[in-house]
Amino acid sequence: MSSIDNLIANVIRADVRTTHAYVVPDSSGYMKLDAMENPYELPLELRKELGQRLADAVLNRYPVASYATLKEKVSAKLGIPAGYDVLLGNGSDELIQIVATSVASQERRAAILAPVPAFVMYARSAQFAGADFVGVKLNPDFSLDMEAMLAAIALHKPAVVFLAYPNNPTGNLFAVEDIEAILHALGENGIAVLDEAYQPFARQTFMDRLGEFENLVVMRTVSKLGLAGIRLGYMTAAPQLLAEFEKVRPPYNVNVLTQVAAEFALDHIEVLDAQAAAINAERERLAAELAALPGVEVFPSAANFISLRVPDAADVVAKLLAERMLIKNLSKMHGSLANCIRVTVSTPEENSAFLNALKAALQAA
Ligand SMILES: *Cc1c(COP(=O)(O)O)cnc(C)c1O
Repeated sequence: MSSIDNLIANVIRADVRTTHAYVVPDSSGYMKLDAMENPYELPLELRKELGQRLADAVLNRYPVASYATLKEKVSAKLGIPAGYDVLLGNGSDELIQIVATSVASQERRAAILAPVPAFVMYARSAQFAGADFVGVKLNPDFSLDMEAMLAAIALHKPAVVFLAYPNNPTGNLFAVEDIEAILHALGENGIAVLDEAYQPFARQTFMDRLGEFENLVVMRTVSKLGLAGIRLGYMTAAPQLLAEFEKVRPPYNVNVLTQVAAEFALDHIEVLDAQAAAINAERERLAAELAALPGVEVFPSAANFISLRVPDAADVVAKLLAERMLIKNLSKMHGSLANCIRVTVSTPEENSAFLNALKAALQAA
């Protein structure tokens, strides 16, 4: 072995060495329907104004450590209840990491539980934090298997249960009463993180339930709303609990350019909300047209993507790739997703292009 191989073997954790990096395919020149991005940009006039704000940003200083202005704006524009503070993250990915890191330590092996298939960062963050990840299989219709969930909670006593609401990659909203039962079962031994990344599309939230559940954490992001590039997530919980997570947050984790861009965008939130409404309308059209295709099973979605089962997912994905379209093959993610693909709802033009390419791919199969 070369000395660099020895060095890595001596220094890097075994589980990190055997883990594959999070793969993001190169998308230049492709129609990008694999990452749940909002296809619309801010109007040119607004971008020009934002350019001026960014030019005035103070880059030689650290961000204002309290992030008071941005937090106030997030609270006012995104519906944080009175009396609740927010914790900001470099995307909600970082918030997931902060939660996982806060519960696991060498002295106390912690469990982190999520229904599966789920957002991949829950398991990854648990692993890197040194926690045991427990995945509990969803029912075939992707609802929570409550018998299995409650049994796993009793057995593993997880410090955290992550619930994406709506769930990624399946798109559905879990039943409110099931989530309530999980919160009750966890009680003072565990928290439930409601990951509301798709709230701008689902328009359903547990934000207004914070007063009822001290073990409820509500996490969101501006990524799917149309600001994926600036990397900003936020979460809220009972103030004492949030203060503990705050200790783990790296200082200055949200940069000055993100702060300026987010404050500006939140001042024009109605533009983003209108885009989300347009995407929702397109989701209904796309779902209906997909459901009419022979051999295609469409799963109900409250998010800005649709998951569907086709006769041969690998074949469809390869054929769309040849048409320069990126969608996600979910087949390898979990046994229950065999021959499933996920497509982001985009503009009417891109959605129609996808539909046509899919029809052609299914006919040629
Ligand atoms: C996309 C996504 C996130 C990640 O959001 P970022 O803020 O971009 O890091 C978190 N949770 C779920 C369920 C997602 O689908």
